[in-house]
Amino acid sequence: ENYTKEAILQMAEEEDVEFIRLQFTDMFGCLKNIAIPYSKLEKAMDNKCVIDVSSIEGFVRDEEYDMYLYPDLSTFSILPWRPQQGKVARFVCDIYNEDGTPYIESPRYILKKALEKAKAKGYTLMVNPECEFFLFHTDDNGMPTTTTHEKAGYMDLSPIDLGENARRDMVLTLEEMGYDIESSHHEIAPGQHEIDFEYSEAMETADKVMTFKTAVRTIAKRHGLHATFMPKPRAGVNGSGMHVNMMLMKDGKNVFTDKNDELGLSKEAYQFMAGIFAHIKGMTAICNPLVNSYKRLAPGFEAPSDITWSSRQRTALIRVPQNVEGGTRLELRSPDASSNPYLVLALCLEAGLDGIEKQMELSPELKRSIRKLNKKEKEEMGINSLPENLNDALNEFHADELVKEVLGKDFTKYYLKAKKEEWLEYMEQVSEWELEQYLYRV
Ligand code: GLU
Ligand code: MG
Ligand code: MG
Repeated sequence: ENYTKEAILQMAEEEDVEFIRLQFTDMFGCLKNIAIPYSKLEKAMDNKCVIDVSSIEGFVRDEEYDMYLYPDLSTFSILPWRPQQGKVARFVCDIYNEDGTPYIESPRYILKKALEKAKAKGYTLMVNPECEFFLFHTDDNGMPTTTTHEKAGYMDLSPIDLGENARRDMVLTLEEMGYDIESSHHEIAPGQHEIDFEYSEAMETADKVMTFKTAVRTIAKRHGLHATFMPKPRAGVNGSGMHVNMMLMKDGKNVFTDKNDELGLSKEAYQFMAGIFAHIKGMTAICNPLVNSYKRLAPGFEAPSDITWSSRQRTALIRVPQNVEGGTRLELRSPDASSNPYLVLALCLEAGLDGIEKQMELSPELKRSIRKLNKKEKEEMGINSLPENLNDALNEFHADELVKEVLGKDFTKYYLKAKKEEWLEYMEQVSEWELEQYLYRV
């Protein structure tokens, strides 16, 4: 909602707000915040709150230590999981330099820039994310484990267990914060859940994803559980994704819809998909940013590994759900919730619009299961695969000019360096699996 400063001051007073959190998201998708007392609320709304970023990871320019937080007044909301007396509210903030220019490496700014560029051509992006997560037990010291006692599966109704109670509480809390919850269900793996909220404009969705994750973790803890968005916490069962459902709007209409097409898709929808296909390899280091992300993408667990689209197959990279009310949407299935939603949405939009602009040609729908095709058949059909690990993804990222342009030069440089280090550190590890396989045998 579009609040004025006066309205916020009044709300804060009436609601007995004692602290305000000024939040922002770093390059790696971590939510950060500083808390200020009520007495500083006006100062904060005048964009006068400073943060020292010299020790925050991912801030590119280390000679400039002070940055300003500009609260987005429309994001004012009370955090329901904090005390009911002396409440805590928050703003999502933009980051500015001392000279009043935006800090261009801020992920929220990167998305804002992409949205403005699209808006100049008349487009807005509506997004509905599907965040999956696991609820695990904690050990005697309160540390997270990967254990769950529950046995329920996809959309099961289990006898009320800890997980289900927690999920109910999460939904109620999010609703209290103004989320329009579409549905929630038990996912395929034991202990795995999903809560979906309705479409909103891309920036609002990205903000909501960040708050969603905090809410889910906090409520889980209250129920003695640990919530994790780690892409693949357990081998042998499904990982957790963050499917991104998109509708592109122009003049109040869904551009992806054309009733005369067999699948209800417009020319622009096909081109948008083609644009994503052209850039998805380069985008993968952002959509799947962790070493662990690639274990989820390994074939066999309903996450995509190949660049295909389908109106049916759940293993496709993009699925076109059929007969949906309000017109066609495209579901990109590769991103996981460890990604930074601002960056993911900026890239989806720019890649898709690149497809429309260049009138890119889309490969035909894959009607068979990709799992039934061998490598040679895939090659003959011209089907490409997603990068198989973080290192390959970083190389693809480096080679994609559009991706680098969207994120900016300094951002790209810093991100590549940090992620490359993460990869090298991982490669130095010796895993349980290796010891089991080789210690005796070799
Ligand atoms: N958990 C699967 C994934 O990793 C998706 C399952 C579903 O279709 O909801 O993407
Ligand atoms: Mg799901
Ligand atoms: Mg889905």
